[in-house]
Amino acid sequence: MAILGAHMSIAGGYYKAIQSGAQDGCDCVQIFTKNNNQWRAKEITEDDVERFQAKLDEHNIQQTLSHASYLINLGSPKDELWKKSIDAFIVELRRADQLGVPYVVVHPGSFTTSTEAEGISRIAEGLNEVHQQTRGISSRCLLETTAGQGTNLGWKFEQLAEMLDQCQDPNLVGICADTCHMFAAGYNLCEEESYHDTWEEFDKLIGLEKMKAFHLNDSKKEFGSRKDRHEHIGQGHMGLAPFRLLVNDPRFSNTPMYLETAKGDAEGEYEGMSWDAANLSVLRGLIESTS
Ligand SMILES: [Zn+2]
Ligand SMILES: [Zn+2]
Repeated sequence: MAILGAHMSIAGGYYKAIQSGAQDGCDCVQIFTKNNNQWRAKEITEDDVERFQAKLDEHNIQQTLSHASYLINLGSPKDELWKKSIDAFIVELRRADQLGVPYVVVHPGSFTTSTEAEGISRIAEGLNEVHQQTRGISSRCLLETTAGQGTNLGWKFEQLAEMLDQCQDPNLVGICADTCHMFAAGYNLCEEESYHDTWEEFDKLIGLEKMKAFHLNDSKKEFGSRKDRHEHIGQGHMGLAPFRLLVNDPRFSNTPMYLETAKGDAEGEYEGMSWDAANLSVLRGLIESTS
């Protein structure tokens, strides 16, 4: 059975994210462990950790995922930003570790004024540096598949495979696949045949065992647009078909799936529900009983 949840705000305390997630019917929750648009962060206290873990137990929520800051760019050709990104990502891993969160997902990075190949090497080099400085920490890095906007890397499986190849210890790195990003990048998950071809290609280039998490988002933009605009499940250009295939795929039955769709109160047939609760109920409605 698919493990379904959503990104939740930590405003008011880490435990609040779990509380809100449970209210909306999440099996799993993604959080930022700090303000995602700032470099600085307040220390996590023992009290924060205790309250967070108590809520996880109370609501039986497993597989929490941390999303790293949007400021981090491990692909930057500029030394100052690159070093700052490495330091910030180390902080992200330490914070996740403190909270007992096993994975931190990060956008691989953009090459800006350099080239694709240089950007990829820079990312791998950055990850090597991060790994050297985080020995003894059990939280691991997940590279997210991107939509390929601008000079963002990681939208082609080949790019992710190359990053892993150039890593000294690729076993320390997994992948988080974002459905909206894959669609925007030109991976068609919408028909059964292309769905299976896509994962076969992923398996050949990267390995399905690397798949540790999903971001479930429909897309406001067309197939292959290379634009990253999330839409509610089934209401964008992807429709319900790819989500039906994913939530019923036995290969991913233990891989947590998190919504990153717009918050707020749902409308129309979902009136009275939050959008997260509505999207989760749409996804659960796609699960076919196996009995
Ligand atoms: Zn995502
Ligand atoms: Zn996105």
